[in-house]
Amino acid sequence: MDYDVIVIGGGPAGITSAIYTARAGLKTLLAEKGLVGGQIALTENIENYPGFESIDGAELANKMLAQAKTQGVEHKLLDVKNITGDKEKVVETDEGNITTKAVIIAVGSNPRKLGVTGEADYEGKGVHYCALCDGVMYKDKVVAVIGGGDAAIKEALYLSNLAKKVIVIHRRNELRAEKDHQEDAFSKKNIEFIWDSVVTEFIGEQFLSKLKIKNVKTEKENEIEVNGSFTYVGHIPATSWINVDKNERGYIKVNHELETSVPGIFAAGDCNEGDLAQIATAVGDGAIAGTSATKYIESLK
Ligand code: NAP
Repeated sequence: MDYDVIVIGGGPAGITSAIYTARAGLKTLLAEKGLVGGQIALTENIENYPGFESIDGAELANKMLAQAKTQGVEHKLLDVKNITGDKEKVVETDEGNITTKAVIIAVGSNPRKLGVTGEADYEGKGVHYCALCDGVMYKDKVVAVIGGGDAAIKEALYLSNLAKKVIVIHRRNELRAEKDHQEDAFSKKNIEFIWDSVVTEFIGEQFLSKLKIKNVKTEKENEIEVNGSFTYVGHIPATSWINVDKNERGYIKVNHELETSVPGIFAAGDCNEGDLAQIATAVGDGAIAGTSATKYIESLK
């Protein structure tokens, strides 16, 4: 077999799993199709991961990957399409098939879209999902942030240092974000809030220029002028291609050992069912999945 373990996804959960299996003496491949670090690579300051008072997400991801390589993990840029086989698993990738004894899925999730008129037309032309990536286009301009969770409020704070005005549009009249993030946002003079409202249309010509919004209590609609918008309304797990049991929202069902419904396939991090999507929980999952995969491989002997 080509490997003992193939870990799919190079975020904190995947990297941690790979560190655990490599340290157990297993030949481990970490397959990642894009950005190492996953969502954290797009996060500016991380202040709630122990050991780092404040660290840039991309820097933390690079440190994690460097540590994994030091422990013997092989890292390849690969797009995985399917997993088949039984005791010998076949991982089908854009560069051919690779065989392994066990697989750990740590593919994370992608930003959820609103699915309203104009959203797809203006993607990249005023409609964005990552302030760190695209915020720089809106220096001294007016931007909207859609959502009321931690991601929305942190990104609104980030954008408030660039843009002239940030308008947070939230479907309820209270935020879900942590209290200290809320207080920081309420104290910013250039962050405004539109409560109890949803965006029903993205409007413009070449570029986005207006949002149609609807007050969910009064049902009244009106238009506001913006130069850009950033949507943070949660995530969708990147699991559509994976043949294991999932819940109705596509999150992978696992037990306490992070075993999926298929023997020899484990899952860790944001792609699993669970309440919290944090670096600390992803890393914890990685340790469990790596250890469970190691036990599974021992049981094959
Ligand atoms: P989230 O906490 O699920 O928040 C999503 C927000 O979008 C909520 O305010 C929700 O409204 C709103 N929403 C959902 N669907 C919507 C729709 N169709 N239209 C309009 N609004 C919609 O997601 P998140 O902010 O991405 O955070 C995910 C996880 O990562 C959380 O556990 C969060 O704490 C964590 N996180 C932590 C930090 C940090 O620095 N500590 C930073 C980012 C993320 P309702 O409130 O009405 O449901």
